[in-house]
Amino acid sequence: MAYDDNNIFAKILRGEAPCFKVYEDEKTFAFMDVMPQVDMHTLVIPKFPAENLFDLSPEYAAAMATTVQTVARAVKNASDKPGVMIAQLNGSEAGQTVFHIHTHIIPREGGIDLKFHARDLADFKLLEAQAEKIIQNL
Ligand code: AMP
Repeated sequence: MAYDDNNIFAKILRGEAPCFKVYEDEKTFAFMDVMPQVDMHTLVIPKFPAENLFDLSPEYAAAMATTVQTVARAVKNASDKPGVMIAQLNGSEAGQTVFHIHTHIIPREGGIDLKFHARDLADFKLLEAQAEKIIQNL
C-alpha cells in the first residue's frame, strides 16, 4: 500500500494537527500519545514518509532508535517507573492503527496493567504536564 500523507502523524509533522511535543531533531519527532495505555506513554516518529519498518531507510531507522533511547531515558526518569516497554507495530494484523511508522515508549511497573490500545482520550492538561516533566528530564 502506498504511504498516505494525510495520516494524522504526517499532519502533526507538518504542523497541521496539534500535539504535545517532547523532543525534535533533524530526523525525528516525539510527542505524547493522546490515548495512552499508561501515564507518560510517548511516541517517536521519523521525519520520513514510511508506513512501517520495512519501508524506512536505514538512516532514519537509526535516527529513530537513537531518539527512542534518548526519550525513553527521560520518560523513565520522569515517570519514576522501574521498567520501560518499547513497541513498534507493523501492519493492521499486528495492531497498527496509524500508518506512519512510530515507536511506543511505555513505562511499566509490576501489577499495573496496560489500558486498551488507542481507546480513551486523556485529559489534555495532564498530557501537557507530563510532556513538560519529560522535557525537563531530557
Ligand atoms: P499503533 O496502533 O501502533 O499504530 O499506534 C497508534 C497510536 O497513536 C495509538 O497508541 C494511539 O493512541 C495514538 N494516536 C492516535 N492519534 C493520535 C494523535 N492525534 N496524537 C497522538 N497520538 C495519537
